[in-house]
Amino acid sequence: MNRSAPDPDRLLADLPEATGRLLAGVLAAAGRTGAELAWAGGGIRDLLRGEPPSNVDLVVVGDALPLARRLATDLDVPVKIHPRFGTATLELTDGSLLDLATARRERYAAPGALPEIEPSSLVDDLARRDFTANALALRLTPAPRLLLDPHRGWPDLRSGILRVLHRASFVDDPTRILRGVRFEARLGWRFEPETERLAREALSAGALAALSGDRLRRELRRTCENFERLSFVWDRFHGLGLLAGLDPELPTAYATDEAAVARVAAAARRLDFAGAGRPAPEPWLTALLAIAASMPVAARGRLDLRLDLDRTARRALLRGGAGAGFPRRLPAAGESAHVVTQAFTGLGSEELCLVAAAGDSASAWVTRYLTELSRIALRIGGEDLVATGLPSGPHVGEALRATLDARLDGRIGADDELAFALGVARRVLGAEREPGDRAAAGRTGARPWGAGA
Ligand code: ATP
Repeated sequence: MNRSAPDPDRLLADLPEATGRLLAGVLAAAGRTGAELAWAGGGIRDLLRGEPPSNVDLVVVGDALPLARRLATDLDVPVKIHPRFGTATLELTDGSLLDLATARRERYAAPGALPEIEPSSLVDDLARRDFTANALALRLTPAPRLLLDPHRGWPDLRSGILRVLHRASFVDDPTRILRGVRFEARLGWRFEPETERLAREALSAGALAALSGDRLRRELRRTCENFERLSFVWDRFHGLGLLAGLDPELPTAYATDEAAVARVAAAARRLDFAGAGRPAPEPWLTALLAIAASMPVAARGRLDLRLDLDRTARRALLRGGAGAGFPRRLPAAGESAHVVTQAFTGLGSEELCLVAAAGDSASAWVTRYLTELSRIALRIGGEDLVATGLPSGPHVGEALRATLDARLDGRIGADDELAFALGVARRVLGAEREPGDRAAAGRTGARPWGAGA
């Protein structure tokens, strides 16, 4: 990279075509409203790094809303206005979003609280940013175009250094620590030593306590962008002292098995959830379950409350991850498919990653479950059995379950379902007349690993 800050016109000359067209539209609308306008945030950071910009975040001095409305009309796209914050989001035809915000000054009435804001200058707007490398803006109008860099962000950006703008930054807003870890993981950047010290200091003083569960969880999800860098992220959380801010027992649980996150992330990358038509596992939750597996149930309950988890995540966490609760016994290579399928049914994608992380045969079972077993469904239903003259009753359900097990185990094919089910149903009926002979009737056992509880 070049040592001196790049020339703004040169930066804009290299834009991808669609972004160039969008900016031309923005400038035409701004010309008509007379707005003072700059491009700031991640998109400029990308451009300065020589990458195509991931987004266009515009900052408007005065009031962003008239320009947002003008532009929405010009481009004939929907706009969402948030009058309280002076911000607007346009939904562009290619599905991307264009954010416009009124330049503002922020004041933190209490640590961790949302700041009080008032309209202000571009320079004040940059002063409220998280890191120097994120506090650059490219003024688009009025002419001349200028790269605004009041916090000397360019040298830090060039060197990949994350440096806060002031000493209270992390106390004001501890989500900035997680944002920093996200940039470390994604861009390979590093906290500058004093910034790292301030992060540790804020965390050990309990800064995270000021964040609501909802905010904390959202930021965690954002930080854990993918499985590739998941173990780096949680290693940094541990190293910075962030885990204790989530729960006092979490650092010990993490240290009990420091490779747990790496193992589960590797397992998740091998599994094809999309191909199986299932939701992709969420990296943040997968890591949390892997670590929390060795925590006592009371601590897991506390973690659930702290992060204000939704029902599905709570169930997975309380079920106990890979340790105390599920699975008590991992499926071995010679297990029968219907037993494994029963144990896996009802588990979330994250839990399946945990099972797969436990070893080769468990992983092979999860793959087989996703690609084959979870897709097997009976062609017949109870009505087909009753239509043959069989009386209805619990034996019908029992026969269908036994038939599904036989299909899963490959003992019968799809064409054999009706004959097999009728055979089972008749045996069950017969056994009911002769108590004590139920085992022979083809009943399947209880769930083997306590799954789906
Ligand atoms: P990404 O590429 O992940 O979207 P980004 O830097 O664009 O990264 P955003 O959350 O979209 O992330 O934020 C846009 C800009 O707003 C940031 O570059 C930063 O300048 C500023 N910003 C966002 N969140 C904070 C925060 N919590 N404290 C201070 N500044 C922030």
